[in-house]
Amino acid sequence: MQDQVVKRVVVAGGGTAGWMAAAALAKQLGPLLDITLVESDEIGTVGVGESTIPTARTFNALLGIDEPAFMRATQATFKLGISFENWGQIGDRYIHSFGQVGKSNWMGSFHHFWLQAKAAGFGGELGDYCFELKAAEADKFSVGEGPELNYAYHLDATLYGGFLRKMSEALGVKRVEGKIGQVQQNAETGFIEALVLENGDRVEGDLFVDCTGFRGLLIEQTLKAGYEDWGHWLPTNSALAVQTKSTGPAVPYTRAIAHTAGWRWKIPLQHRVGNGLVYSNEYMSDDEARATLLEALDGERLIEPRVIRYRTGRRLKTWSKNCVALGLASGFVEPLESTSIHLIMIGVTRLMQLFPFTGFSEAVIARYNQQAVDELEKIRDFIILHYKLTERTDSPFWDRCRTMDVPDSLAHRIELFRESAQAFQAPGELFQVDSWLQVMLGQRLQPTGYHQMGRLMPPEELRGALSGLSANIARAVGGLPGHQAFLERYCGISAA
Ligand SMILES: Cc1cc2nc3c(=O)[nH]c(=O)nc-3n(C[C@H](O)[C@H](O)[C@H](O)COP(=O)(O)OP(=O)(O)OC[C@H]3O[C@@H](n4cnc5c(N)ncnc54)[C@H](O)[C@@H]3O)c2cc1C
Repeated sequence: MQDQVVKRVVVAGGGTAGWMAAAALAKQLGPLLDITLVESDEIGTVGVGESTIPTARTFNALLGIDEPAFMRATQATFKLGISFENWGQIGDRYIHSFGQVGKSNWMGSFHHFWLQAKAAGFGGELGDYCFELKAAEADKFSVGEGPELNYAYHLDATLYGGFLRKMSEALGVKRVEGKIGQVQQNAETGFIEALVLENGDRVEGDLFVDCTGFRGLLIEQTLKAGYEDWGHWLPTNSALAVQTKSTGPAVPYTRAIAHTAGWRWKIPLQHRVGNGLVYSNEYMSDDEARATLLEALDGERLIEPRVIRYRTGRRLKTWSKNCVALGLASGFVEPLESTSIHLIMIGVTRLMQLFPFTGFSEAVIARYNQQAVDELEKIRDFIILHYKLTERTDSPFWDRCRTMDVPDSLAHRIELFRESAQAFQAPGELFQVDSWLQVMLGQRLQPTGYHQMGRLMPPEELRGALSGLSANIARAVGGLPGHQAFLERYCGISAA
């Protein structure tokens, strides 16, 4: 048996990525490793990233986290999906929920039956067949009582970091406070040997996890991993974030409301609301963005809005030599579908699966990097879809989005759906058929053809089956408590 040569893991950065990495490594591989995390209070964290997707629950399970305690500590609420407003055209609204739509069979997805019904003049809305979507619309929620909902969380990013820090330190992670001034490399191999702090302390390691945010202090500034820019497909490059007091019960979904040069988010937490404006500074000045955001706020402002500038794209290598980048250091696709925290989770999970105990293998590194590219490119395509499918003609920004060329991989999916109503989930892809469907139909992509399996049923039978399904969902939703009431009971909190 080969000896373990990689034992000392140094996590550079203590934002969401750093503490997620430290907590997961300590929980799962702790006895085999010696983990140190370096963070700088002076630099701080990006302070956004509050909306998750259901894989956040998988991550919590991996860490053995008690849900109500986690929700209390992070002031979390439940999330069933995202409400997209003004995307297809001004006035439109659809919910991309985490649910499955209807019942599919081996030949095709449920929506082909629904399209058959629509052609015959009945069938209602596709959303009538999705439990999570109807529950979101009705502001209802429960867990552990009655039919299962697929859900995620909205959480306070700063509190989440603190929660994971406490957990990591209890699991033996050593925290070092200080600003990294220099990254020392081996003169021959270029491998990183130590982080030298501005106070002169050296933190040595065998494996370095770069969680230093957009600056990518190790992966880019030191190892020059390179960056592929996706700004021509995803034109936003700026965000303004601000927190407000809650003005009413928390809804179980994120709101993503399009404006003339991007979109605005609204994320309800227990103690406050996270608000932000995503925009392209080519089409909207920072001052205009600030005014647009402030005008839209409906609660008392708790902090001053601040501009966050970003560059959409990916590092050419997220694992280079003895350094793995996670979080913003690894690349960034804008937050429209709340995928960044998920990518941190997948990245650290993959690192644990491929952990280089006995040394660094180019084959293992290549495997890690290939999987990272595959999953990120598919997420990228899904986000571009929202911009490309707009019918808005009210601003140069939307004109550009509507008329832009998209990656071939996405152009094929759009064509496929337009001609045949076929959608698919590629191997290793995050978003399922139901996600593609909800967004494509939600943004008015009308298929000209569909699978004819619905014609194998007499119309009355099809009508009966569909109305039975939607009635079951309506009944189940009717039996759910309100989201706010459930949240208070579940977390043992009192109303604000
Ligand atoms: C506008 C916006 C909205 C977003 N919304 C969502 C969302 O809804 N859902 C989602 O999943 N994701 C979202 N994200 C992404 C999410 O914010 C990040 O993935 C997440 O916060 C992880 O950030 P990070 O830890 O990589 O970086 P950061 O939070 O920037 O942390 C970097 C850390 O490195 C440390 N550091 C840096 N340099 C040094 C140094 N020289 N010495 C010592 N320490 C150093 C800092 O002190 C800090 O601790 C959003 C991002 C943006 C920009």
